Amino acid sequence: MSFGLYIHFPCCSKICPYCDFYVLRESEAKRAALLPYYEKELKLLSEKRPELFSQKLETIYFGGGTPSLLGPEQLAGLLELTKSHFDVSADAETSLEANPNDLLGDKPNAFHQLGINRLSIGVQSLNDAELKTLGREHSAKQAENAIRNIKKSGLQNLNIDLIFGVPGQTVASWRQTLEQAIKWQPAHISTYSLTIEERTTFYKLQQTGKLQLPLDELCQEMYLTGVEFLEQGDYKQYEISNFSRPGSESRHNRNYWQRKSYLGLGPSAHSFFKNQRWANVRSLPIYQRKLDVGELPLDLKETIDTKKALEEALLLGLRQKEGICLENLKKEFEYDLEKEKRELLDELTAQNFTLKENGRLRLTPLGFYVSDRIIAELFP
Ligand code: SF4
Repeated sequence: MSFGLYIHFPCCSKICPYCDFYVLRESEAKRAALLPYYEKELKLLSEKRPELFSQKLETIYFGGGTPSLLGPEQLAGLLELTKSHFDVSADAETSLEANPNDLLGDKPNAFHQLGINRLSIGVQSLNDAELKTLGREHSAKQAENAIRNIKKSGLQNLNIDLIFGVPGQTVASWRQTLEQAIKWQPAHISTYSLTIEERTTFYKLQQTGKLQLPLDELCQEMYLTGVEFLEQGDYKQYEISNFSRPGSESRHNRNYWQRKSYLGLGPSAHSFFKNQRWANVRSLPIYQRKLDVGELPLDLKETIDTKKALEEALLLGLRQKEGICLENLKKEFEYDLEKEKRELLDELTAQNFTLKENGRLRLTPLGFYVSDRIIAELFP
């Protein structure tokens, strides 16, 4: 069984105004004080859920937050901790999310030596005005220098995160960012639409009329431009927001979409094992307090029944370019999607949102752009 480990490091040097993750701006001392809690959590889990530890670990993902704020010694400690609890596959994909400014010195080299074999870099844009709007701390030049520095370290498996739909962004400036990004020849590119979530500064600004987002038609054009441009540049789309060179898909994220098991550590981290999903509390103090008294820092726990599992299989299947195998759906869930949703599927196909190919139903690029709407229609 494929099994992944996600470690959420919630600290950032600055909180971006659009960020909805559980993140904190903490001092170096507080960041260091968090590290022993991963060990406490693993120890407690190994007592209470020993079955999790008989799994071979195929992927390890340090996400956040900004785990590139960790020093090499701190990261080495976390990797050692992982190895002491799990049988880690020799070819495990070991990813770390990073901000460009953390990658200008010796860190890429040190991280690579430790066994990090994939970096996911929050470049977001290569236009300085857009980076400023997004509240990012780096410039386009610094991002470029970081990439050059990483390449010197020999670490080849890079993902570049980019954002479209930024206030003030145009299709031309988005295209320039994409053109520049593919010149670096990263193995993987993710393009995310800027979405305004309730807990963010951007939400407050939008509510008070101080933030003007590009019109939806413009965002759609940017998305479709990105898909076309990247596909022409030899990046194959395999998920709504993800493009890779052949064989460089994110194994860790793909496991999520294929409903494979994973364990999440750290505040707000989610886990999925067998038919259970659970999430840790979204609060560092409560996370620490619970672990201090020998309690798992759980916030919610859900058993996935057949109906929910079917919904997940449809929802996650449609996120992926390969879509859903209609026969498998019948075998696994005794559910005939075409029979149940015939009228709706006919409509979606007529609107060029879905297509059926070789027994699979999948979304078109236009369908991906409106996937939230399609999914809401499929599961009212
Ligand atoms: S650096 Fe990333 S995780 Fe941190 S606040 Fe910004 S977007 Fe969120």
